[in-house]
Amino acid sequence: MSNGDLIQKYRPNGVRITDLSAQLWCEKQLEFGLEKGRIETREMNKGTERHKELHEEIATLVKIEPKIKADYVALRLHNIQVGLERLIVEGMTRELPVFGKINSLFVIGIVDELNLKDNDLVILDTKTRKKDTMPSEAQKRTTRFQLMLYNKLIQEFVCEKFSTKDLMSFYGFKKSDNISDEFKKQTTDIGIRIEPNIKKLADKSFELFQTLPIPEKIMNIRYEFQLNKKLIGVDEFSFESRSFQKECNFCEEFWLGKRKAIPVGIDNNWKCNYCEFNNIC
Ligand code: SF4
Repeated sequence: MSNGDLIQKYRPNGVRITDLSAQLWCEKQLEFGLEKGRIETREMNKGTERHKELHEEIATLVKIEPKIKADYVALRLHNIQVGLERLIVEGMTRELPVFGKINSLFVIGIVDELNLKDNDLVILDTKTRKKDTMPSEAQKRTTRFQLMLYNKLIQEFVCEKFSTKDLMSFYGFKKSDNISDEFKKQTTDIGIRIEPNIKKLADKSFELFQTLPIPEKIMNIRYEFQLNKKLIGVDEFSFESRSFQKECNFCEEFWLGKRKAIPVGIDNNWKCNYCEFNNIC
């Protein structure tokens, strides 16, 4: 199977931003994960729980079940709209979905936190840690890349480089495509008003992005101790265009099938001690 088929097989609705950041950790591990699935560790579950908790601090979460592709995309667009309205009025939002292009790849992701104050738009992330210590440089690098990817996607929205047209064309939607009647009923039943037409909904959501400033180059990652939520430290760093572009090119090559997945090199083989695929790699 060529890697072009990998996108079709595993990520037909968009490569995830977390795929790209995981790829910087170990590309071979990402490939195994796609083929065999990842084992959810206790640490991962704790991280997911904490994100949900932080999201619930600012929003009431409701469960709805999209039925068709248009419903899934509409739900993300609706959450963008609600999240950006909150950001503009209250100065902060969490768990904001994003779409976009990284080189030739169509990608999707969820920005952990955005703050808007005095016309400064700042991207933040909270990572939880099993140990009460800051992560290694290798771990910091992958998370920094993740935030730089979000930064880039938001820049493209703000400058209208990514538009409704790009979204419609990637998913193959027509102007007249709407959410399903069943999804519409579900949202109405729980009191959510959602624009049924995908194009109109995308236009509305993306227009809100265009009212925002370009995100600040300086970003912050808060590292929190899982046991008691104590802040371990903050990694403050700046968007580095040259290394970022190099890393995007590296990631793209794999997804386009230009080369096979690369395992970690000799300097990084300590990562294999923590890898669930160690015995088959
Ligand atoms: S064992 Fe090492 S090289 Fe192989 S997938 Fe895991 S981390 Fe990567």
